[in-house]
Amino acid sequence: MKSYRWTCNSCHAPNEPTDSHCMKCGCSATASAEEIEEHQKPEKYRRNKSVHNSKKSLMPLMFSPYFLAIYIYNGHFESMLFFLLFVMLCVFSNIKLLMFIAKDKPAVLTLTTLSTLLLTVIIIRLYLIPDSESGVGWGLMAYFGVATAALIYIAKNKHLNLLLERFYAKS
Ligand SMILES: [Zn+2]
Repeated sequence: MKSYRWTCNSCHAPNEPTDSHCMKCGCSATASAEEIEEHQKPEKYRRNKSVHNSKKSLMPLMFSPYFLAIYIYNGHFESMLFFLLFVMLCVFSNIKLLMFIAKDKPAVLTLTTLSTLLLTVIIIRLYLIPDSESGVGWGLMAYFGVATAALIYIAKNKHLNLLLERFYAKS
């Protein structure tokens, strides 16, 4: 409760100090920016959140060839098995989304290209640059550069965003 008359952050209606929620639209007096957005455009907010979450669940899959290469190189086959199980679980729990994406050629091309790029960088680093050489530092930087670029690309990619929005509008 506020001790003064307050203006709703969502609809700008004036409210009494005793009101904990806006009398006009019901938005909380202490709503955060995110809560206001949710209150104003619940549909859009929920869809954006779903798109964001689905990208998060796709990430391990995109990075999986990269991790598998590291496990194989280091001979950590037990870790590799656990990782494969984890990947299978990811595939299984996102099967509808993956099938939906699989039908869209540009999206598949984008994701597999990024995944292959990450794999290529780590293979070059593991097999072509000896551990003792100064190239290791550069290899690491190249890797982080590619990984960061891939994450930004996925976050900003309009085609992918629209595709995922369509998926959630449908389901
Ligand atoms: Zn209001």
